[in-house]
Amino acid sequence: MKTIMVDMDEVLCVGGHLGIVNKFLNTSYKVEDLTGYYTEDLLPKARLQEYYQFFKTENPYQYAEIIPDAREVLEKLSKKYQLYICTAYYSDVYDMEQSHCLIDKYKWLQQNFPFISPYQYVFINDKSLLNCDIKIDDRLSNLKGYGEQKYLFDSYHNQKISDGELEKEGVIRVSGWKELETILLKEA
Ligand SMILES: [Mg+2]
Repeated sequence: MKTIMVDMDEVLCVGGHLGIVNKFLNTSYKVEDLTGYYTEDLLPKARLQEYYQFFKTENPYQYAEIIPDAREVLEKLSKKYQLYICTAYYSDVYDMEQSHCLIDKYKWLQQNFPFISPYQYVFINDKSLLNCDIKIDDRLSNLKGYGEQKYLFDSYHNQKISDGELEKEGVIRVSGWKELETILLKEA
C-alpha cells in the first residue's frame, strides 16, 4: 500500500482559531475575510496579551468545521492506502501557551475520523522528515522533501502561489476532496 500524508488544519477542518478570535472580539468574521494564514492578525495589537490569556482557556476545535467531503473521501482512501494524519502542534509566531491544542487535536480526530487509528497520527512540525509517497497539505513549505505526488490543498491563504511556482516544486493544486478522490482512487 502506498502511504499518504494528510494534513489536518485547513485540509480536514477549518475555522477553529477564527472561532476563538470571534468570541474574544464579539465579531463574526468568516474564513473568506482572511487574507493571511494567521487569524490572530485580526486582533488589535493592544489586546494581544489579553487574547493570549483568553486563548489558554479555549479549545479551537470546538469551533472547527469539517472541510466538505473530507470524511467520506478519507474513509474510501483508507481502504486503498496507508493514511497518516500529519499535523503540526506548535507555532512560535504568537507568544501563546498552546500545549492544550495537542490534546484538542487528538480528541477532534477521534471524534470526527473514528476509522483512523491514533497509531496513524503524526504530530510533527518539520514534515520534510516524512517519507510518504503522496503528500497533501495547504502550505507549500510542508510539501518539501520526499514524495512521488504532492498536492497543495486550495485554501484562503494560498491563492497567491502561482502555477509556475507550484510546477517548479512538483506540486499540483487541488480544489478539494472530490478532486483528490478522482485522482487517487482512479490510480489505486
Ligand atoms: Mg494545514
